[in-house]
Amino acid sequence: MLLNHCRLIKEFSGGVETADGAVRLEDGKIVEVFAEALSEADSSAMADSSAASETVTGSEAVIDCQGKTLLPGLMDTHTHIIGITGYSSELLKSPMKLFMKSAAAAQAYLDYGFTTLRDCGTPLRVANFVRDAFAAGLMVGPRIISGGCIVSPTEIEEMDSIYEMYSWADGADAIKRAVRKELAEHADYIKIMASGSAFHKQGIPVQPIITAEELSAAVEIADMKGTYVAAHAHGDGAIRLCVDKGVRTVEHATFISEETIEAALAREDFYLVPTLSAMYQNPEKTPLEMMFLVDKLKNMLQISTKCLRKAYDAGLKIGFATDSTVGMDQYEQGIEFQYRSELFGMSNIDILLQATKVNAEIVEMSDCLGEVKQGYIADLILVDGKPDQDISVMYHKPDMVFLAGERVR
Ligand SMILES: [Zn+2]
Repeated sequence: MLLNHCRLIKEFSGGVETADGAVRLEDGKIVEVFAEALSEADSSAMADSSAASETVTGSEAVIDCQGKTLLPGLMDTHTHIIGITGYSSELLKSPMKLFMKSAAAAQAYLDYGFTTLRDCGTPLRVANFVRDAFAAGLMVGPRIISGGCIVSPTEIEEMDSIYEMYSWADGADAIKRAVRKELAEHADYIKIMASGSAFHKQGIPVQPIITAEELSAAVEIADMKGTYVAAHAHGDGAIRLCVDKGVRTVEHATFISEETIEAALAREDFYLVPTLSAMYQNPEKTPLEMMFLVDKLKNMLQISTKCLRKAYDAGLKIGFATDSTVGMDQYEQGIEFQYRSELFGMSNIDILLQATKVNAEIVEMSDCLGEVKQGYIADLILVDGKPDQDISVMYHKPDMVFLAGERVR
């Protein structure tokens, strides 16, 4: 397939900058990136020559991109395919229903241009199974990197609606066992709770909830098994612990201090994964039992605007994530892009890099994902406008989405 007349931005296409280029896809991969569009004669000649090396190829499908911008597929490195909105404990009575609901929710991300998701916790580890169903080609859906259940020291009451997302463990030995269990159940990495949560009524985000010993135990086992730990941490105490004990990604990082930013800069393999849109709220859509969130999140957003801006200005590596689920306003309105630009002063190119190249590094797939480059997997989006000049282009769904070379939107 040839994507002809596409605009390419050098930061995302191995240095190729052009208003009228072309990209050829074959067997799910990007095989060639052209700085100039191919004329019709060229493209059929090229198709013929490739047909000669392949055994069965008729004429090549050509899509005219009409000068729109072609970017790598987007990645969300902190989402929950079945999150607070879609989940209820009732679903546990029918794991098959939970699976169907989760798979359908995960598929919907494609429509927004998200071709890779890192799921940060699901009940019954359902994201592991959705991942496997997509990877096996049983259904079409984004690439999923799943943490299974969230390992956490005892923290919230059993009545809490998302209690079942967690694997509870206290003390270093129990944490090791819980981490081993997640890996045995095919988690790709380990998600752990290091501070209180914003979304639980009794959660105190500034408070650490894990000891140094417990956190080190998790990192030790994950490291031994060739993977890493991603830790939920809002407060600076918990974030600092994560930096010191070898956690790879700190999720949210709301109240990070200048001292912790300094310490984090010394680590090569360290990333912040802020989830700003999780602090967005629409009071009209907030159910009564969640009204406690309104002030809590408003306050967190205000403070994090200052803290995270410092981390960005200092040059810490920052990933792109939402902690939200498709179907919520956050996705519908591109709130994460909006907040990063308007509240946190991040440049358009940096925001787009976070959602592609940096996230590919975070999920350890930067050798095959996150760029429009020869040899890379053909996960691509075509957007109507110039998002490097006007980030609001990203507030809407892309025109076209390709997953491993197949058009899915
Ligand atoms: Zn989360």
